[in-house]
Amino acid sequence: MNTKREMAELLAVKNRILIFPHVHMDGDALGTGAGLCCALRKLGKEAYILIEDEIGDNLQFIDDGFCVRIEDGETPDAVFEKYLGKKADLCIMVDCGSPDRFEKRKEVFFAGEVTGCIDHHGTSKPIADYNFIDAGAAACAEIMYDVLRELEDVTGADIIDKQIADALFSGIMTDTGCFVYSNTTIHTHEVAIELMKKGVDSSAISANIYESDSFAKIRLNGMAVDAMRVFADGQAAITIVTQDMLKECGAVMNDAEGVVDTLRSIKGVEIAVFLKELAENEIKVSMRAKSYANVAVIASEFGGGGHIRAAGCTLRMPAEEALKTMISVVTEALGTQTKPE
Ligand code: 5GP
Ligand code: MN
Repeated sequence: MNTKREMAELLAVKNRILIFPHVHMDGDALGTGAGLCCALRKLGKEAYILIEDEIGDNLQFIDDGFCVRIEDGETPDAVFEKYLGKKADLCIMVDCGSPDRFEKRKEVFFAGEVTGCIDHHGTSKPIADYNFIDAGAAACAEIMYDVLRELEDVTGADIIDKQIADALFSGIMTDTGCFVYSNTTIHTHEVAIELMKKGVDSSAISANIYESDSFAKIRLNGMAVDAMRVFADGQAAITIVTQDMLKECGAVMNDAEGVVDTLRSIKGVEIAVFLKELAENEIKVSMRAKSYANVAVIASEFGGGGHIRAAGCTLRMPAEEALKTMISVVTEALGTQTKPE
């Protein structure tokens, strides 16, 4: 594992950089990527965020020409040629620590001259050439702020401006549930203060992220809550959004964002489970714990991972079977992971 200083020194000497956030980008993945991309461009480097799916409507304000999407069948060389003119001298993943978090882009990632990883997931392993993983950080954007400060030190340049601050703040805001989740530390607030000194308008960011929903999204959320089942004596709640439900509401899967938090907000619910039917026999699982349960270990059983209180995995089975499977494993987990007195 490397230090933040070493990550900054690496960024300082590289000139053609591709940034890899995880698939289904959340505010932290995009905010961290955008903050880094903007900083690198300010230093005169060629930098892009390479993505493979859509950016959620409520996050699009963070992207300012940073994101480019890989096309089906595009080779690493074709991607490098198109955006950088020649091979990337650094491919760096952010807010994730494993290539199965960016399946369609992994060949490009490993084709870079050097690979890097900046992440805050406890289940991530240091598999890149240069790694900084800190599971104690509430958001990857919190780490990125520290790395960019080091980069300012290494280069002697003033880097962190309002645009970078807005992007990083968005990441911290979303991964901490507006500074209230148990991952929020004094350092999280300290970073937020420094970002606000750069001119961040937190209420404008909040309005963009949380108060820009479409009717379709609200309808879909209502339908998902309606389909909820409570189990394990009221300690757990589960629901699903299927492709049929999307059609009925005129919604897209990104609109299901937030459903899992609604389930966790029910009194007495310790674990909330939310399933997204991405395709037939491809069910994305999102789990949240409220105060003591460890959902990262449950997700790991199915090849996924994440944080203790927020984790996910993918189940390759029909929707009904996935529901049964999760009800069974979560009930079992709640039987062993009991509430501390
Ligand atoms: P979400 O439920 O919001 O998709 O994800 C919750 C947390 O778990 C996020 O930090 C996310 O990066 C992580 N996570 C979600 N799905 C997976 C997965 O399939 N594998 C791993 N390693 N982490 C995941
Ligand atoms: Mn994150």
